[in-house]
Amino acid sequence: MKRKYGAARSRETLAERAEATAEQKACVHQQFKANVAVNRFEDTGRFLAEITVVCVDCELPFRFMGVPAGLGWERPSCSIEGLTLNAPIEPELVRVLQAGARYEMPKVDRVQH
Ligand SMILES: [Zn+2]
Repeated sequence: MKRKYGAARSRETLAERAEATAEQKACVHQQFKANVAVNRFEDTGRFLAEITVVCVDCELPFRFMGVPAGLGWERPSCSIEGLTLNAPIEPELVRVLQAGARYEMPKVDRVQH
């Protein structure tokens, strides 16, 4: 049985979510589908992008790593299960360069999922 994500998933509670199926565990996850919902909050004038990624072949959702759970306007955060990235965004009315950038390569040869 294939699990469905998206609108149907939002009705599931964390306790109702099953572990990945054998098919999902065997999948090598080579094709992806990303969904971005941009929300505009009229009371604050702020914008928030909600991003999710699933494997097209097995529909397994991907978890965002290294992002704290929660919600805020100052930095990206994720949902409690890590499956939705909440990224504050704003229109580029003025060009701003970041104060610094950091690039880090993985410390392992290959991660097994
Ligand atoms: Zn897959």
